[in-house]
Amino acid sequence: KELKEFSLESCFTSAIKLTSSKLKNRDIQIIQNIDDIKIYGLRNELIQVIINIINNARDALDELEIEDKYIFINSRTNKKNVLIEIKNNGDIIPKEIINRIFEPYFTTKHQSQGTGIGLYMSSEIITNHMNGSLTVKNENFIYNDIEYQGPCFKIEIPI
Ligand code: ADP
Ligand code: MG
Repeated sequence: KELKEFSLESCFTSAIKLTSSKLKNRDIQIIQNIDDIKIYGLRNELIQVIINIINNARDALDELEIEDKYIFINSRTNKKNVLIEIKNNGDIIPKEIINRIFEPYFTTKHQSQGTGIGLYMSSEIITNHMNGSLTVKNENFIYNDIEYQGPCFKIEIPI
């Protein structure tokens, strides 16, 4: 694994490039608001985590019959940490499930679609290799004066 200095924005650019075709053909829009900073750590692994979370949001949105499907990506920094939030509008994650989604092999998808290791691996990368945390919460949020709800994945890493 390679440790290096990299720009956070470049991670999102790469992750979005690798996921965009499957989002466009489903009419899912990505809305970004990123505070670009330099991070020292595992660039490729962080990209993989972002891709996992985007792909999960895509799968969740794909099941819904709603007009506007969004994935919001925000980041902000303070002196010590960068906080990245990736959320989608749509169904919230039920409380019986939300505590289990980081467990290895936990999935609610059909066998051919999900293995249940994406979030487990993501959490391992962020906590064990980047000294950070990966958490999830259902939230309400406003975009263009409309209120939405949905799961919000938060990655916090020291800079
Ligand atoms: P997989 O995608 O293979 O099922 P993951 O570890 O990536 O495995 O995710 C585990 C489970 O977490 C999913 O099966 C799903 O139930 C839940 N989940 C993850 N992200 C979302 C989301 N954005 N909306 C709703 N449920 C989600
Ligand atoms: Mg997944």
